[in-house]
Amino acid sequence: PVVFRARGLGKTYQAGDVPVLALRDVDLDIRRGEFLVLLGPSGSGKSTLLNIVGGLEVASAGTLFYEDHELTRADDAELTRYRREHVGFVFQFYNLIPSLTTWENVALVTDIVADPMPIDEALAQVDLLPRRDHFPAQLSGGEQQRVAIARAIVKRPQVLLCDEPTGALDYATGKRVLETIARVNATLGTTTVVITHNAAIAQMADRVVHLGDGRIQRIEVNAHKVDPS
Ligand code: ADP
Ligand code: ADP
Repeated sequence: PVVFRARGLGKTYQAGDVPVLALRDVDLDIRRGEFLVLLGPSGSGKSTLLNIVGGLEVASAGTLFYEDHELTRADDAELTRYRREHVGFVFQFYNLIPSLTTWENVALVTDIVADPMPIDEALAQVDLLPRRDHFPAQLSGGEQQRVAIARAIVKRPQVLLCDEPTGALDYATGKRVLETIARVNATLGTTTVVITHNAAIAQMADRVVHLGDGRIQRIEVNAHKVDPS
């Protein structure tokens, strides 16, 4: 089943009196449980697309459906509720609270959702149970990012959106983080969209969407997806 259906999706930013066409004519169906990677040069519209799907930004043209909800018609209150209850976000920077432990950083989120996962289960998904009582400063960058992944999945989101989750990490550490995301996708079945420049992760994805100049240039289907385990 299709979870997201975009048709003619577009976004124009107004930079002074110059309009910037960040995204145009995007037609895309994302299936439940699918692992999608967005690839393309800087400025090609990857973050814009991810942010529209996540309800962080509003499209200026076209339609986007999430199941039978039209996100392109939702008001601010609906988008806030959608983000809170249905979307897990992972960004380049981890945004952990330094005075809270790993466990507490993840626990913080569980107050605002109806049916959270047990916190230890979320930590086990990212192999961080042994670090549950450590503070962010006691963790490596890769471990901090895995805490951020646990925080994103503990609310059992329908979709996990990751914007350059390895942007601040070295290649080997980044690869480990991406394997964790791929494993979450495989074991929990969470629909996952990742912006990355890492070629290794593209091999773990079901499809790679190549963006250029705000448009989808081509979509690569991975017939021989690499198993993250
Ligand atoms: P990518 O994620 O592929 O680097 P973005 O989606 O961030 O690309 O940006 C696409 C285009 O939209 C770029 O030309 C960028 O400069 C422009 N853009 C993005 N956000 C804004 C904004 N808030 N205001 C004006 N232009 C923006
Ligand atoms: P609210 O109105 O509920 O406070 P926000 O606009 O603050 O909504 O964001 C909604 C969700 O998106 C939150 O769960 C927040 O964690 C996430 N989010 C949005 N932008 C960022 C960001 N730059 N870094 C981390 N999380 C973000």
